[in-house]
Amino acid sequence: MEAAFSQFYKRTPEQRLAILADTLGLSETEQQELKQRAAQGDAPLLIENYLTTYQLPEGVAVNFRVNDHDYVVPMVTEEPSVIAAASNGAKQLAQAGGITAAVHSRLLTGQVVLSDVKVFASIDDWVALHQDELLDVAKQAHPSIVKRGGGPKSIRTRDLGEGFVSLDLTVDVQAAMGANMMNTMLEAIAEVVQNKLHHTTLFSILSNAGVQSLTTATVSVPVAQLADELADAQQIAKRIAQASRIAQLDPMRAVTHNKGIMNGVDAVVIAMGNDWRAIESAAHAFAVKDNQYRGLSQWQLEGDQLTGTLTLPLPVGTVGGATKVLPLVSINQKLAQISSPEDLMRLIAAVGLAQNFAAIKALVTSGIQKGHMKMQVRSLAMTVGATPSEVPVLTGQLMSLKDPNESQAKQLLIKIRNNEEEKHAKR
Ligand code: NDP
Repeated sequence: MEAAFSQFYKRTPEQRLAILADTLGLSETEQQELKQRAAQGDAPLLIENYLTTYQLPEGVAVNFRVNDHDYVVPMVTEEPSVIAAASNGAKQLAQAGGITAAVHSRLLTGQVVLSDVKVFASIDDWVALHQDELLDVAKQAHPSIVKRGGGPKSIRTRDLGEGFVSLDLTVDVQAAMGANMMNTMLEAIAEVVQNKLHHTTLFSILSNAGVQSLTTATVSVPVAQLADELADAQQIAKRIAQASRIAQLDPMRAVTHNKGIMNGVDAVVIAMGNDWRAIESAAHAFAVKDNQYRGLSQWQLEGDQLTGTLTLPLPVGTVGGATKVLPLVSINQKLAQISSPEDLMRLIAAVGLAQNFAAIKALVTSGIQKGHMKMQVRSLAMTVGATPSEVPVLTGQLMSLKDPNESQAKQLLIKIRNNEEEKHAKR
């Protein structure tokens, strides 16, 4: 096996497929499937050992009204109900006047970490004294970002304890996510630290915390809008606020609350060619900022208004990385009317808030399963191999069962196919 994979990275995708088929016994059909999905163009060059392209469905959430503008939002997800819930939540929030979203700041921080520091003050003093020189070194390491109006802004030291010290560099990365330009600048600073301060550095890399790229989405929903009868509406508003409060008190619930928010956030981040692992890490770190993991959004009942707020670290970019290489990203940016990272940050936060509103409202009223049922049943139909023309028929039949399972779906599909064959035979 090892010999077969020697210099695997140098092979073409076709050669890699042949090796895999040989060593792992892929059938002709499986090989064809992998071959058919292989992409042309530059996208395969984004990663190593490219084999094929794993596709995810893209849909468009509608009804978003953010800062008095209407948006449609491309979302990439494999999970049923997410786009329906986002559209539904957005519709209700648009009826309330829409979501307001604001970017607090848009800067990226990176770290040069020193170990075995005996006296923190000696590093702190040296950095303070050489601040301008270090910022110049960072500028020279990536001068094009300075020409674009951005570049390094500040450098400060933090004592991490146990002899570790972090030099935190803050950079205006303009429209990029900025990982690579930041890392280049940090490595240049690390070299100066080693040569002039005579202290070895442990590592240099951006921080994904994103706390200098916070974005807040808020909305105020008139309670009366939540149901036809005012008493019902008041009850629903109270239950939404209570459910939100539980996500502040109980980490067990907060994780699920935040997962619901990230259903929408990740789907947009992926559609826009950004690094969703970075956004996920940042969101969960932010959720635990006061040492307890809490819900990222909060809903509060204030008189006759239900007010929702969501703040997220969103260090996303609209240029660089995969944004120009993945073929759909520029079209998705156009669909969502995104022309700056700030536009994208506002829209992502708004999607997170609408997604969260739809989920909590469903949870405290009809329950989550009712809305999900049709989508889950459709998934079940596809899982057992129903073709696109069979899916609606099988879904309809499964919906009439109380708690349909895979074996029932298989049996029903066999019946549907038998009936079709009989019909054909009679013609
Ligand atoms: P790039 O390395 O592609 O850098 C951005 C590029 O965009 C630069 O080359 C810059 O050109 C160009 N650019 C064009 N217009 C602008 C503008 N208006 N503002 C800013 N830049 C502009 O991407 P990033 O540095 O953003 O890095 C993103 C990638 O890094 C992601 O794919 C991510 O997954 C990956 N990554 C993530 C890490 C992490 O999160 N921990 C670590 C390492 C990589 P010019 O050079 O001429 O200025």
